[in-house]
Amino acid sequence: MADRTKLVAGNWKMNGLRADGVALAGELARRARAGEGVGGLCCGLLLCPPATLLAAVGDAVAGSGIALGGQDCHSAPKGAFTGDISAEMLADSGCTYVILGHSERRQGHGETDAEIRAKIAAAGRAGLNPILCVGETQQQRQAGEATAVVSAQLAGSIPDNFARDGLIVAYEPVWAIGTGLSATLDDIAQMHAAIRAHVAPDARILYGGSVNPTNAGAILALADVDGALIGGASLDPDSCWAIARCCG
Ligand code: PEP
Repeated sequence: MADRTKLVAGNWKMNGLRADGVALAGELARRARAGEGVGGLCCGLLLCPPATLLAAVGDAVAGSGIALGGQDCHSAPKGAFTGDISAEMLADSGCTYVILGHSERRQGHGETDAEIRAKIAAAGRAGLNPILCVGETQQQRQAGEATAVVSAQLAGSIPDNFARDGLIVAYEPVWAIGTGLSATLDDIAQMHAAIRAHVAPDARILYGGSVNPTNAGAILALADVDGALIGGASLDPDSCWAIARCCG
């Protein structure tokens, strides 16, 4: 049975050189080790830095309880795929999670549900916990298609034989990412309940989209919200920590 302990995952995207990344991760690790700890936070904390910083961030958080994740992976274990990284390589670098199907990958790199499905299978093969991102555009929401779009993304990207209680889903309305706009509590609750019908009862469902220390408490208190995927706020240790503390 999967554990629905809340998870706060920081997606650093393409941000951070070595000095910034180590300072940010080091500060979070310092707080975790100093008894403000991850245990005391009542949630898991996950950092997903750029691939160039995995080793340095892994060293900075070692022994703190903070987990390390990748932002994407290739579906093949190895081969002639210039610029790509396999799930096995992420695991070998100390990752235990990988974000897959982020809207910036779907939109900027043309990723399809079928490709994301193969990547989820790859993550499972390498022993990583995949975080599958789904979410509708503003146009789709305005057309009343949000639930249908998200349901189709789930149906198209979860492998048939995947142990679905190992899967984490992140509901991220595309229009809320990096915009300062967040979905209403009602919309989040409704969508998370709809997602729950597609996954195992104990699978974690995160919300992402302009989560900040001010709105995090109310979002994280919703029954079917098992954590947050945070972008911008994850680059500031105080904001990241404050959001994690909202888990209870
Ligand atoms: C994200 O990129 O997954 C995200 C939620 O970003 P932000 O928190 O900046 O909206």
